[in-house]
Amino acid sequence: MSDNTVELSGAERPLRIAVVGAGPSGCFIAGALRRSLPTARIVVIDRLPCPFGLVRYGVASDHQSTKNITRQFDRIFSREGVEFAGNVSVTTAAVNAEIQSGAGSVTLAELRDRVDAVVFATGLAADRALGVPGEGLPGVIGSGALTRVLNSHPDDADAIALTATLGDRVAIVGLGNVAVDIIRFLAKEAADFEGSDINDAALAAYHRAPVTRIDVFSRSAIELAKCDAQMIRELGQISGLVVSLHGDTATPLEQIEDRVQKSRVEALRELAQLAADAAGPRIELRLHFGAAPQEVLGEERVVGLRVALSAGGTQDYAVDSVVSAIGFGADAHSPDIGGTRADGGSCRVEPGLYRVGWLRRGPQGTIPENRADAVAVAAEIVADLESGAIPRADIAAEAPILPSRARALAVSYEDWLRVDRHECEHAATGRTRSKLPTTVQMLEVARQGATAA
Ligand SMILES: Cc1cc2nc3c(=O)[nH]c(=O)nc-3n(C[C@H](O)[C@H](O)[C@H](O)COP(=O)(O)OP(=O)(O)OC[C@H]3O[C@@H](n4cnc5c(N)ncnc54)[C@H](O)[C@@H]3O)c2cc1C
Repeated sequence: MSDNTVELSGAERPLRIAVVGAGPSGCFIAGALRRSLPTARIVVIDRLPCPFGLVRYGVASDHQSTKNITRQFDRIFSREGVEFAGNVSVTTAAVNAEIQSGAGSVTLAELRDRVDAVVFATGLAADRALGVPGEGLPGVIGSGALTRVLNSHPDDADAIALTATLGDRVAIVGLGNVAVDIIRFLAKEAADFEGSDINDAALAAYHRAPVTRIDVFSRSAIELAKCDAQMIRELGQISGLVVSLHGDTATPLEQIEDRVQKSRVEALRELAQLAADAAGPRIELRLHFGAAPQEVLGEERVVGLRVALSAGGTQDYAVDSVVSAIGFGADAHSPDIGGTRADGGSCRVEPGLYRVGWLRRGPQGTIPENRADAVAVAAEIVADLESGAIPRADIAAEAPILPSRARALAVSYEDWLRVDRHECEHAATGRTRSKLPTTVQMLEVARQGATAA
């Protein structure tokens, strides 16, 4: 056998690999596998009719330079011969995710019969629960749900009104970078979203009655907050935002050895010293450290948040809604492919079945961190292929990777490019694109002018 072909029943065929999930990890690993296996057939499958996962549906709409990583991912599909099959869910017996009508599906068992290796890169998209009484009350919102609405995720097309129900005073639990994305959304003026691809209906709904106070609760002391200094400095550019620090904030700079922690504390203290600009105070941002939520208060909807203080005792804050920004976990679409998920363990579930990215490492880390992970996992897969550890799928070279049922409904990369062009050409004034909000609309545009499969 050469590196890229399989000897079966006397005939050679190229290796066949399916990557499940077209987010950053799926795209990075497809690219890394392509470099090692230039003649292999590689297909990236996604349950949505579009690629790019959280780059499209998580990264904040006012951070377009971060979203530009998709240009790099474009190349693997347009120039490097990696195939895309959107609108196809990969399911396992353990996952009964609702498949939307008009969407294709293939079981993991069927897929494994048709390829030599399957790599799962399905991420972890569900909001982690707060785990305190009252969290089921109306007015408690996950940061993932909110950022999906702002990014026009088709699963949340009916939830646009969410931004109109936040009320006057919002609590955010957690102070990682996603929390800072939410602070920027709440605190910026509508005009500040020039050049973004924000969902305009959600933005307009919010700006009919924007918040006047944001309380952010971080259970750790100031130096251990999770956000990046750069993200904090960006808040300093928002006109009318007045910031104060509370609770466990007193650690002297000279006692902080870690450079990253020191820079974060400096950024937070500088932010709190900025006086309101000429426009005057518009929104108050209070950052509380050493403050862990204990109970969401209210009977019919949120009226407050009870917080345990590291200094002892509790304090109640009157708030109209609570946004949890404390991380992510497995969602209904994320198949359990065996072994524990998100434990940072081996990428190999068994020879021929692998996982990569957030699904393997847990919901931490930036987009570029998934590249290093993908390169390492690709090396393990190639080593398994070369050592003969993976039993070869007994399938002919010309057989399509997806069964006909799923293939008939799949969105190809060319189909996706029609959606991409449509969204950019129909962008509202001041927007880089206006995303099609439902899968039905995406599929309609994807199939315009497409020849039947
Ligand atoms: C709100 C938010 C904002 C962020 N902002 C930034 C930022 O500004 N900068 C930065 O560097 N990082 C940011 N990150 C982190 C970054 O998004 C992640 O590191 C990265 O997206 C993880 O990539 P992934 O491919 O593992 O998962 P994902 O991006 O979640 O991709 C998973 C893909 O799998 C698909 N899928 C799921 N289940 C199935 C199935 N059963 N069958 C087929 N397909 C399936 C999904 O549709 C999705 O396309 C942010 C994360 C979040 C949540």
